Amino acid sequence: MMTGDQYRASLNDGRETYFEGHRIDDVAADPILGITVDSAAEGYDRFYDPAPDAVGAFMKVPGTAEELREQVELHETVDLLTHVTYASIMTLLTAADRIESTLPENAARIRAWVEDAQRRDVRITQCITDAKGDRSRRPGNQDDPDQFVRVVERRDDGIVIRGAKLHISAASMGHELMTIPTKSMKPGEDDYSVACMVEVNAPGVKIINTTYAPRHEDTRDFPISSRHHTPEGFVIFDDVFVPTERVFLDGNPELAGIFAHSLGLWERLGGLSSMVTKYEALVGFAQLISEANGLERTGHIKEKISEMLINATLIRATLEAAIENCHITADRVAFPDELYTNAGKYHGAANWSLMVRHLHDIGGGAILTSPGIADLENAQVGHLARKYMSTMQSVDGSYRTRLFHAIRDLTADAYGGWNAVTNIQAGGGLYAQRIVSRMHYDMDQAKRTALAMADMSEYADQV
Ligand SMILES: Cc1cc2nc3c(=O)[nH]c(=O)nc-3n(C[C@H](O)[C@H](O)[C@H](O)COP(=O)(O)OP(=O)(O)OC[C@H]3O[C@@H](n4cnc5c(N)ncnc54)[C@H](O)[C@@H]3O)c2cc1C
Repeated sequence: MMTGDQYRASLNDGRETYFEGHRIDDVAADPILGITVDSAAEGYDRFYDPAPDAVGAFMKVPGTAEELREQVELHETVDLLTHVTYASIMTLLTAADRIESTLPENAARIRAWVEDAQRRDVRITQCITDAKGDRSRRPGNQDDPDQFVRVVERRDDGIVIRGAKLHISAASMGHELMTIPTKSMKPGEDDYSVACMVEVNAPGVKIINTTYAPRHEDTRDFPISSRHHTPEGFVIFDDVFVPTERVFLDGNPELAGIFAHSLGLWERLGGLSSMVTKYEALVGFAQLISEANGLERTGHIKEKISEMLINATLIRATLEAAIENCHITADRVAFPDELYTNAGKYHGAANWSLMVRHLHDIGGGAILTSPGIADLENAQVGHLARKYMSTMQSVDGSYRTRLFHAIRDLTADAYGGWNAVTNIQAGGGLYAQRIVSRMHYDMDQAKRTALAMADMSEYADQV
């Protein structure tokens, strides 16, 4: 396994990565991107084990509901890169099982690659979302055929791919790009039915980074996003050669959807679990700021917080149900329940704006206009700023100001905007979660229940 320092050094591998118009030669040394590298390096140190064949504890494949719960709880405490590495490995192993009967050689190749990746202790990011062009047209019917990643050349020893994968979390900070089709493919879309592992420093891979990381000199006013942030990578495959041993699917359009579907479950479980934490924090901020404002016993404030905590409880209940009702496969892998995972993730994403609306309503305008921490320390006005930010003897002005900064950071500034859009789009978007929920919901049972209630059970065998 690698230590944090070894991980930092491993990123200096000639990768072609850009940020705000400049090529970044040393990602770890960049003042903004380097913060994400530091978080990932902490993850390396945390799980480091010097034994020659050691595999990080975060990689453990759960075999029971209890182990699944342990993994979910553990992953709530790890950095995003560590988490997506685990989700990628789970995706690959799930996909290997699902393609085994048609493509046993490819399934074996996936398993061999996973074993090697675990031995090398590399971090993997997930390249699924294509540029997609005109959303109403199939990959092969686009004005530009490169709008979905495709194979442009086949050689004896591998393939050459071209295209772009967008919004890829932490792409520049990992070692391997798990590149898989964004959706199911149809007959004739063989060139788009490609799944493979690409090294971040492979010739032709170019990554453009974006981030919500705060740029203020004094990052104390951004207590959440200044400590942890994850850039997204706009990953371009400009005719990239991929050796055969890294190609898991090339053709077989009927199998293309398996990879994204295998990922969706693990991705949304992670999304749901982080939603549980964030919902709890939103309730906590609402209560703390109402107390600091002297309004915690006021009727309309209590009602809003009650609605918030009911939502937080329902989200937590879906996570619990997804774990408790997990499905255990023949080779003893515990999969979270699809319906509870997707319904919970959907409910959390769809109601995020309501939760934030209540918090903003409860908090007041100082969410946006609180003086900076440096202003509180200023010799001329600091004592006055603290005096008027205080609301009563027991509420210190600095304390209340810091609460406002955290609320602004989480919900109303660059990171707040990121949260608002990401909750809706990440994990395939609300639409994907609705489709999967519908797929796993027992509609026949619902119809039978309706018929029974209508005293029409004689029609039940027709549903
Ligand atoms: C911060 C962030 C991090 C992300 N991280 C990753 C990552 O690590 N890896 C990764 O692969 N992806 C990642 N994503 C991408 C995410 O999965 C996509 O944003 C999401 O799937 C939506 O795709 P899109 O952005 O292309 O939007 P679009 O597909 O353009 O969707 C916009 C709207 O159009 C609708 N729509 C699109 N096509 C059709 C159609 N044919 N018919 C009807 N309606 C349609 C959608 O339902 C949606 O309502 C991330 C996104 C964000 C915001």
